[in-house]
Formats: sequence, structure tokens, C-alpha cells
Amino acid sequence: MNNQVRCYHCGLEVLSGVRLGVKVLGESRAMCCLGCQAVAESIVENGLEDYYQHRTELPQTPEDLIPSELKQLALYDHPEVQKSFLFGAQGTEQDGHIKEAVLIIEGITCAACIWLNERHLKQLVGIQSVAFNYGSHRVRIHWDEQHIKLSQILAEIRKLGYHAHPFSAQQQDFLRAQQRKSNIKRLAVAGLSAAQAMMMAVALYAGAAQGLEYANAQMLRWFSLVLTIPAVTYCAWPFYRAAWNGLVNRQLGMDVPISLGILAGFIGSAIATVRGDGMVYFDTITMLICFLLGTRYLERGARDKSIESAENLLRLSPSIATRVTDGQYLLTPVVELQLGDHILVKPGETIAADGVIVEGATSVDESLLTGESRALAKTTGDDVFAGSINYESPVTVAVTALADNSMLASISRLLDRAQAEKPPLAETADRVAAYFTTALLIIVFFVALFWWQQAPNKVFEIVLTVLVVSCPCALSLAAPAAFAAAGSHLVGRGVLLTRGHALESLANVNHVVFDKTGTLTLGKPILIDTITYGSLSAAECLKIAASLEQASEHPIAKSFILAMARQPLYQVETHQNIAGQGVAGVIADRAYRLGNEQLHGLPTPIVQCPPSASVVWLSNETTLLAAFVLSDQARPHVQALVRDLATQQITTSILSGDAAPTVAHFAQSVEISQWQAGLSPEQKLRQIRALQQQGATVLMVGDGINDAPVLAGANVSIAMGSGTQLARATGDVVLLSEQVSEIEHAIKTSKFTMQVIRQNFIWAIAYNLFALPFAAIGLISPWMAAIGMSVSSLIVVLNALRIKTYLAD
Ligand code: ADP
Ligand code: MG
Repeated sequence: MNNQVRCYHCGLEVLSGVRLGVKVLGESRAMCCLGCQAVAESIVENGLEDYYQHRTELPQTPEDLIPSELKQLALYDHPEVQKSFLFGAQGTEQDGHIKEAVLIIEGITCAACIWLNERHLKQLVGIQSVAFNYGSHRVRIHWDEQHIKLSQILAEIRKLGYHAHPFSAQQQDFLRAQQRKSNIKRLAVAGLSAAQAMMMAVALYAGAAQGLEYANAQMLRWFSLVLTIPAVTYCAWPFYRAAWNGLVNRQLGMDVPISLGILAGFIGSAIATVRGDGMVYFDTITMLICFLLGTRYLERGARDKSIESAENLLRLSPSIATRVTDGQYLLTPVVELQLGDHILVKPGETIAADGVIVEGATSVDESLLTGESRALAKTTGDDVFAGSINYESPVTVAVTALADNSMLASISRLLDRAQAEKPPLAETADRVAAYFTTALLIIVFFVALFWWQQAPNKVFEIVLTVLVVSCPCALSLAAPAAFAAAGSHLVGRGVLLTRGHALESLANVNHVVFDKTGTLTLGKPILIDTITYGSLSAAECLKIAASLEQASEHPIAKSFILAMARQPLYQVETHQNIAGQGVAGVIADRAYRLGNEQLHGLPTPIVQCPPSASVVWLSNETTLLAAFVLSDQARPHVQALVRDLATQQITTSILSGDAAPTVAHFAQSVEISQWQAGLSPEQKLRQIRALQQQGATVLMVGDGINDAPVLAGANVSIAMGSGTQLARATGDVVLLSEQVSEIEHAIKTSKFTMQVIRQNFIWAIAYNLFALPFAAIGLISPWMAAIGMSVSSLIVVLNALRIKTYLAD
């Protein structure tokens, strides 16, 4: 009676009463919904039924394509919208009908999905080329606009049950380069214009002293006016645009007073020139524009660098590998590699996929992934990663992860995520700058009113000075430049910030909690002894244990699988993972448990073993069957880290789920006096909450695989992300480097960065508060204001750039 019918397309249960079907591969197949039916029909109609034979994972259940979505897709055909993501195919040899874009496709679950999309897109009339990037699920397509529209392409992908949207990061890369070019141009024009206007101004001042003839002076003014026009229009355009965008979004940024200052200064001076009477400030305006552009250019440079590091990573991996089949070498696109394929990597080549060395020994350079600059010796059985470079001798590598699961792809995704989040401090600075601007504009109004009554001929000059001198540029630039410099410095050392708040939080840490397994130890325990208590042999106990561990990701699990050396294992039913305790399951109708003392609820005898070893127990429903002794190596340099942390007044402690004697041993060996053993993940979390309640700001360092909730409960967390674990690692920071000392360096970096930001804030605010009254009472002239404001911003940016040089030891 419990004969469930499952949807042939997505695998969901078909509810009773639903009668939908599609003929696939010669048979009528049940479908759970209209969405699946539509997708399956479309796959069959396009002759792509093979998909169903090749797929290894079930797809997501598609949603019905509703008319409003189709309308939304049509938006992508709009030339203005396309500007944000289309590549400049016009600039290439193709004619104007050929367009190029990168689409990101959501809902890809296995390689067959990609195959399906690729085939289907290639069949469409008007599609010229389709190139998938497996790692990022991005596809680059060229199409002919005369035959097909982008919205139709997107709709076709929808018909297959996937969501696609144009991806603009690579486009942004292209845009960034263009932006940089145009910024340089603007800066150069502004520089020329400022130099000229200043020469004229000097001549005018000097002339005024020596009785320059009116006609000549007037000519100089007209010259200055004309020379200033390019600066005020072309060079200053970005300020106007930013100010306008801000106003439209109801945000008063620093560009508003800048724009007002420039425009007011120019218009006022132009009127004075036409009238032939009054002061002109062309030199001030051009100088201001030139300085501001220069400062922003520097700040932009620092930010671009940190964004590009993420993008560049993905470009690291080669697209072609040498596959070895039956002694034959065949050049193969990396995307066609399968798990288990053997590839040959020659010296000097970049490794094309994550894998294990099966033949040969060499040294590799992983510096681009982990910041480790030494060449690392690798031999048979060692892991290697896509993107690292083979130095010495040829090796054969068995592929263990396809592109989208590779370490490289994971790093790149994490970096993307971090960049999508703005650091809270930078947000606060923006908000403060907005208040400041509002206050400034109000003050300007009253200053103008006051001078209007006192000395109307001075109003213009003073308003201009106040606007220029106290624009909160420095305040707005203070944080972003520093964050960018610190972030890219850390990535270079194998410390990956994956959250916007990570750096700020690290700076406040005063208590570091370590997990034991995989954190203080390397997380590669080896089975050194088996003691049996019941009638089962040691070999049988081991086989049961390894079978129970098949589905577990715990480092202990791997050591059992390894100890069995690929011998056949039992089938396990109702497998259960009890976090921080062990595993349970039923084998041939008998229930077994494997794990620490707490898991069994049975008295456990004392086991003779080295102090560094952990013991796990195997039991059936009634009795203890065996004890397994596992020995793990201590992670090097932890003791030095603990000492360095102590010099920074940071307390350290260990919270572990392992038994007390083992934890005590490791605690002593790394000189940590506070430790607790036998804790479940919930208890660890409670301990962290208790610490926080006592006022501690807690950094939790874990292996990031089985302690995600504990990591999330701390104020900030670092996950050990070395090697293959990275893909699943959670943590605000991921330590790619093998060097634990980088933890201390990261804290030092964060503190220094916060110090720089604090200095910047204090400087920016003090400068503004100091300059404003002087400007308001007319003690500062506009050109002094322009210099003051520009120099204050420049100081802030240069101070931020100091982070890199200061910390590079
Ligand atoms: P730690 O806090 O040291 O990182 P865990 O919380 O991951 O350790 O695990 C605590 C204890 O639970 C381990 O020392 C081990 O005895 C037991 N345990 C956890 N997972 C497993 C497993 N998959 N197989 C066997 N024992 C396990
Ligand atoms: Mg652990």
C-alpha cells in the first residue's frame, strides 16, 4: 500500500490524484507538477533525453514560469540594462549584431545539468558559442541579435528548470580597467587646467600689486575662465553624478558639498568675469578638482586590488589537462575530467584539478592559494590542489574534486561573499558623513544669512570657503581604504576574511577558545591499537566500526576507513550522527554505537594508552565490544601562538568533546591552563555564552566541519580551512595557511587597521571642526580651503596604505 510514485524528473513524491506524465526514453513517466512536466517535455522535444541517463543527482523542482517573470526577462533586452553586463563585442572584429555576455546559472546539481544547458543552448538558432565555467556555474555566450534575443535565451534556460541571469563581475573587471583609464585622463586634464589657472592667478595677484591695466587683467580672467571649463565639466562630472545619485536615493554624501562648492565657485567667478568686477576663484576650483581626483584615484587603487584578487584566483586554473588512460596521454579539457581520472602534471605546469598523487614525488608551490611561499614536498598519497604549480618532477594525480568543488572555487566564492558585505564600521562612517553633510548645509545657510547682513560683498567668498573646507571627504575615505588594504594583505598570507565584520571583530578579541581535534591536532588520527571485550574478533570489530563511520565526516571516521584499506564494508541501516559523541547504526538487525564514553551509558574500563591518544568505544545494545586507540599529532607552533596571544593580553582556553586525560595532555603541551573535556556541541556553545556574559569577546578557532554552531555562537570565528576541508568550512575567517601563527598576525593586523581607522576618524573630525569656524568668520581664503580639504583627505588615504608596508615584516 505504501507504493509511492516518485516524479521522474525531480524525484518528489507524486501526490495521489495527480495524473501527469511525459513519455521519456520510450516509457510514460509520472510527473509531480506542471513545472516538471513542462521541463521534461521540453527536454524530450529537444532530443536531450540522454540527460536522464547521465544525471547523478536529481534537479530542483522547477517553478512554473509565470507571465510576469517573462516580462522581467524582457527587461534584459533593453540597451540601457544591457550596458551593465554586456561585453564590448562591438569593439571586436564581429559586426554589431553579435553580443557577448556571461550568465550565471542557478540550480545546477550535477554535471548532467551543465550538459543539458549546453546542448540546449547550442541548438538554438542565433547562438554562436557557449562556453561553460564549471567552477563558477557561469556560461559565456555569443549570440546574434538578429536571430535571438537575450530574454529568449534566458527563457529557454527557464524552460529546462534553471534560473539564469547575466553576471557582471567579469564585466566589472573590464569596467574597472576602463574606469581607471578615464580617471587618469580626468586627473591629467584637471592637473593641466589647475597649473594654467594658477599661473594666471599669480599674474593677477602680482599684477594687482603693480597696477596691472584693467584690460590686461580682464583678459587674464577670460583666459582662466576658458581654461577652467574642461575641469568643471569633464573632470568634475563624477562628483555631480555621485551627488545626484545620492540625492535621488536620499543620501547626502560628501559629493553634494563638493559639487555645490565647485559649481558655486565657477558660476560666481564667471559672473565676476563677465561683469569685469569682483574676485575670481578659477585657480581654487581647478586645484580642488585635481586634488580630489588624485585622492580618489589612490583610494580606488587599493580597493580594486582587493576585489581583483578574488577574480584572479579563478583564472589561475588551466583549462586543459593531460589525461592518462591505459598508458596513453590525451589532452583533455578540464571540464571533461571525471572523478578518479588520472592526469599527468609536468614540472612547471599548473595543476588542473584537486587530487591525490598516485605516482611520483615532487615539490609544489601553493603560495597563491595559501600564502605559503616555501615549496612543499609532495609524494604519493598527498593532496594537491588546482591552481598550485608543480616545481620539480612529473607526477600523476588522481582527480578527487571537480572544478566547482575545488579549493580554488571555494576560495573564490568566499571572497565574493566577503566583498558583498560592507564592514559595519564603514557603514557607520557613511551615516556619520551624511549627518555631517546635513549639518554643514544648515550651517552654510546661517553663515550666508549672517554675512548677507554684515558684509554682502563677502558672502560669496565665505560660503565657498566653508563648503570647500569642511566637506567630509576624509571621513568617508577613512574606513574603506583601510579595510581594503588590510584584506588584501591578509589574503596574501593565507588568511581569508569571509565576512564583512570579521576584521572589526578580531580587533576586540580578548579570549580565544580552541577546539581540540583538527585544531590543536592535525586531525589525522591513526588507529594504533584495538582492545576487544566480547566474543567478536578485533578485525570484526574494526569492520563494524569502519562501516558505521562510512557516512561521517569526522577526522576519526577517516582513520577507520583508512585502517580498513578499501576492504568491503557492511551495509548500515538507520545511520545516525551524534555530533560531538559519535555514530550509531544497525548492521544485520543489530544496533551498534561507536564513540566516546557519554555515548554508551555503559561503564568503560581503563585503557592503557599514550597520553596523546584518544579512545573510542564500540558497543552493541548490551555490552562493550571494543576500545580503539587513536593517536593524533599536535599541530606545530600552537604553543608559540598561545604565548604570543598572552603578550597581547588575550586569554586562551580549550573546549573539547574528547576525554579528560587526552585534553589535559594537549592543554599542557601547548601551555593552556583553562580547559574542559567531554563537552557536547551544545555545552561548548553554553560555555561560550557564559564567557561572553562575563564580558569576554570570544574568538573560536575550530576545524569548521563539525562545530559550525559553536563557531557561529562566538563573536568571531576562525575555521581551519586547509586542504580539502575548505569547501564545507564555516567561519568568519578561514585559515588557508598551515601556519597557526597567522592567527596572531590576523589579530595584530585587525588591531592596527582599527588604529589607523581611528586615527583617520579623529583626524577627519578634528580637521573639520577646526577649519569650519575659521572659514565661517572669514579668516581662510578659498584656495587655502581647497588645499586644506585635499590634504586632509590625502593624509587619510596615505595613512591607510601604510597598513601594507607596516605589517609586511
Ligand atoms: P573536539 O571537541 O575535540 O573537536 P568532537 O566534539 O568533534 O571533538 O568530538 C568529541 C568526541 O566524540 C571525540 O573525541 C570522539 O570520542 C567522539 N566522536 C565524535 N565523532 C565521532 C565519530 N564520527 N566516530 C567516533 N567518535 C566520535
Ligand atoms: Mg572538532
